[in-house]
Amino acid sequence: MEGLLGNERLKKGLAAAFAADRLSHCYLIAGPAGSGKRSLARILTAAMECTAGAGRPCGKCLQCRKVLDGVHPDVITVDDPAKKTVTVDLVRKARTDVYIKPNEGLRKVYLFPRAAEMNAAAQNALLKVIEEPPDYAAFLLLTEAAERLLPTIRSRAVTLRLAPLSEAEGVAELARRFPDKGRAALADARGRVEGRLGQAMGLVGEGESLAPETQIFADCFARRDRLGLTELLVPLERRKREELIPLFEQWTELLSGALAVRAGQTGRWEAAERIGRSRTSAESLRALERLRRAAELLQGNVSPGAVCGALQVWLAE
Ligand SMILES: [Zn+2]
Repeated sequence: MEGLLGNERLKKGLAAAFAADRLSHCYLIAGPAGSGKRSLARILTAAMECTAGAGRPCGKCLQCRKVLDGVHPDVITVDDPAKKTVTVDLVRKARTDVYIKPNEGLRKVYLFPRAAEMNAAAQNALLKVIEEPPDYAAFLLLTEAAERLLPTIRSRAVTLRLAPLSEAEGVAELARRFPDKGRAALADARGRVEGRLGQAMGLVGEGESLAPETQIFADCFARRDRLGLTELLVPLERRKREELIPLFEQWTELLSGALAVRAGQTGRWEAAERIGRSRTSAESLRALERLRRAAELLQGNVSPGAVCGALQVWLAE
């Protein structure tokens, strides 16, 4: 259960459910932005696919690793980030797919990262399949606004409600990620965002040469962590374009640095060296061009939501 901070009671309950092999086929994971919904979804999915006898998810078996790396063929994300809503067509596609048996996993897990963005038609299409799914199918519905889901869907799902971190938990985690920052600055950042770690990290990094989002981008891009990139980009959809343009420009600079490293030069940043070591020049160049395109789109008045959505797809390729 590493990777999910705080929420001790919920974690205890889940650990007991894993041990007793009592997993539901439908979970509603509700909580504010940055509260760990995706981390929890990954843990649950790993527990469903894990082939270790006890202590699931073990985090070590092939199935766990594929889930945690975001490359498991039986984990299907039902979302098109380029679209404003989750359309009924997407849900119908998933509904057809559900009758095809898993490729290699024990379960087929359908992840809905923006469950409340389904309109009534899409929700009704989903309802039909969660009422009588094949026994290997599971559905994870993530949302900040559980009340926007039909009561008939909510009643069929086990709801896991994530709480924001407590003061102590938040400060401890920020201190772990930013060891050079003073406790007071950390506590202050935490207080300003009411315990939402994802947002607090943005504040702690103000005035740094590389924004914390850039550090995360570098980490995820170097490790080919597609879920991590999505987790980074989803909250950015709500930022202002004036904030995003310089951020994407910094990511572009970082990738130029990575290309320089590939060409045998010393990187200006350690993060650029890491990317240079793990990604080919062609990969870094492609991402760089796409980030430039994203900045152009923002300047051309395309909405931050649409641009961040497109980037999730572009950077995952
Ligand atoms: Zn495992």
